[in-house]
Amino acid sequence: MKYFVPDYFNSFKCIADRCRHNCCIGWEIDIDDATLVKYDNLADMGKALSDKFDTGIRRDCDPACFKTDEKGRCVFLNEKGLCEIILNYGEIYLCEICSCHPRFFNYCNGNMEQGIGLCCEEAARLILEGDTLPELCCTGENDADSDFDEEQLLTLRSELFDILSEDDTIENRCKRLMDKLRARLPKRSLTDWIKIYSGLERLDDEWTDILDRISKRGVSDEEYTKAEKYDRAFTRLMHYFIYRHFVNLSLEYGTDLAISFCVLSYRIIRFAFALTGGNFAKLCDIARLYSAEIEYSDENIDILINSIGG
Ligand code: SF4
Repeated sequence: MKYFVPDYFNSFKCIADRCRHNCCIGWEIDIDDATLVKYDNLADMGKALSDKFDTGIRRDCDPACFKTDEKGRCVFLNEKGLCEIILNYGEIYLCEICSCHPRFFNYCNGNMEQGIGLCCEEAARLILEGDTLPELCCTGENDADSDFDEEQLLTLRSELFDILSEDDTIENRCKRLMDKLRARLPKRSLTDWIKIYSGLERLDDEWTDILDRISKRGVSDEEYTKAEKYDRAFTRLMHYFIYRHFVNLSLEYGTDLAISFCVLSYRIIRFAFALTGGNFAKLCDIARLYSAEIEYSDENIDILINSIGG
C-alpha cells in the first residue's frame, strides 16, 4: 500500500498544556474494547486514579466512553490540561481515538491518505502556515488493484491543485475551480447562508456568537476584500479541504457538490474572519472552530451539501 501525507504532517506534535482549546474538552470520546481491557487490568495505582477509572468511564453505552465534568472536560484531564493516563502510563495506554487524534485517514484507490485535522489548534497552524502549497509525500509500494472511478477523481484532484497553484487571488482561483466542475453555489444572501449554518448542530458558543454577529451586522465587501492579505493561508485552507474531502464527497454527491462544499467552507471562514478581524492566529482559530463544528459531523456536511444542491 502507498501512504500519502502532506509535508507538514510529520511536524505535528500535540502542544498539550499550551493548548487553549484542548481536544479533551467538549467531545464524548469512545474507548475501543482492546483499550478498555487494558484499563481493567491496570494495577499499582493510587486511590485517586483508581477511583477515576472506576467512576470516570461510562460503561452503559457501546462502546464505553470517558465521562466529562460539568465543563465538558474529560475527567482524566488535570488542572494543567495534561492527560493523567499519559502521565501515569504513557501514550501507549491511550485509546485509539485519543492516540490518533487529530489525524485522519482516507482510503483511496487502494492507498491510504493521511492528514491532520483542522479542528486542532496546532494542526490548524501547520495547515495554514507556509508560503506555498503543501507537497504530498509518498511512502510504500502500490500493491493494490486500482479503482477506475477513484483513479479518475485523483487525476481530477491533481488538476484542481494545479489551479490552486496559479498566481492569482484565491477568489479568482475558486471561481476557476467551480467553473472546471460546472459547479454553482445557489444565489443566497450571506444572511441566508448563516441561517443554514445556525440551524446545524453546534458545539461551541463561540461559533454561535460569530454566526449571530454576522447575521446582525453583516460583512462589508471592503472587509471581505481586506482579508486578501491572507490569500496564502486561504490557498492552503482550500488545499486542505480538497485533499481531505474532494474524493469522498465526489463519490457520494458528485464532483460539483464536492468542490462547492470546499469553496463554501472557505468563504464562510473568510466572512467570519473579515467580521472579527485580527491576525494569522485569529484566522487559525476561526478555521479551527469551523472544522470542529462542520467537518466532524457527517450530518452537518450532508445538510450543507443538500442546501447547495437543493
Ligand atoms: S487540540 Fe491538538 S494540540 Fe490541543 S490537546 Fe488536542 S491534539 Fe493537542
